[in-house]
Amino acid sequence: MVVGRFAPSPSGRMHLGNVFSALLAWLSVRAAGGKMVLRIEDLDPDRCRAEYAAQLRDDLLWLGLDWDEEQTPQSQKSADYAAAFENLRARGLVYPCYCSRAQLHAASAPHAADGQAVYAGTCRGLTDAQRAAMTKPPAWRLIVPDEEVSFTDGLQGAYTENLARDCGDFILRRADGVYAYQLAVVHDDAEAGVTQVVRGRDLLGSVPRQMYLQRLLGYPTPEYYHVPLLTAPDGRRLSKRERDLDLGVLREALTPEALVGRLAYFAGLRPTAKPVAARQLAADFSWQRVRRADISVGKPQNCL
Ligand code: GLU
Ligand code: ZN
Repeated sequence: MVVGRFAPSPSGRMHLGNVFSALLAWLSVRAAGGKMVLRIEDLDPDRCRAEYAAQLRDDLLWLGLDWDEEQTPQSQKSADYAAAFENLRARGLVYPCYCSRAQLHAASAPHAADGQAVYAGTCRGLTDAQRAAMTKPPAWRLIVPDEEVSFTDGLQGAYTENLARDCGDFILRRADGVYAYQLAVVHDDAEAGVTQVVRGRDLLGSVPRQMYLQRLLGYPTPEYYHVPLLTAPDGRRLSKRERDLDLGVLREALTPEALVGRLAYFAGLRPTAKPVAARQLAADFSWQRVRRADISVGKPQNCL
């Protein structure tokens, strides 16, 4: 059976791009007669708020996007992530990193896929004595191999990355004790039996890291579909920070069917933006018809 998921971060109201990904994730599962899981990704206590999580559930249901099961929110699962982390630490696969933000900036090239820094491995070779002399709590990094990790995305096609060259040893636990998204997401997808991950194309470059963790922890690798990003007229992607077309604004201006109709048109699923219910789209959904290139939504007011 196909098991998919919504994995929103409650760090703000959903914007049009988040809703676009959620619609495609839901359609893919419902068209296959599968099961949908909701997981609130509230790992980062500085950015996430309970009100946003409640609002997310309400916004998804307003759109007609339902789920069959809700997983325990990530903020309540640090014991699970700790167990996975300790497993890797006991195998000598992680090490403490004391680098400051400034040091990381100075010593690294940008990650090929998402612009994040490629870690140069500075702290990998510290001796026990050097570690003992450090006075601040460390972040913990996973040692990555110098080998290619490849997979075929259901929408974007073939993708390959050499973790050592393109990414470097990456963080599993921050210095403040918060576990990293990469670790939490592979743990939780495996726990829920997720077979299919549908999410924004900005996360395509995370897949090799997640596949490597899945291999180390004995978790299966799901299928991946990375959907196009929606962009503003100036080419930047829509974001929560800019409060771009968030659901607060959209819900005041549109019916759920009107909004779903526009999203279906952007996706390439319908020839016009005529209103349609999500449930109707599920009847003839096919990934073959979904566009893979990013989509300019034009002037925000055109969507209202
Ligand atoms: N929580 C992530 C986000 O809101 C999505 C993670 C995922 O789908 O793997 O961007
Ligand atoms: Zn370091």
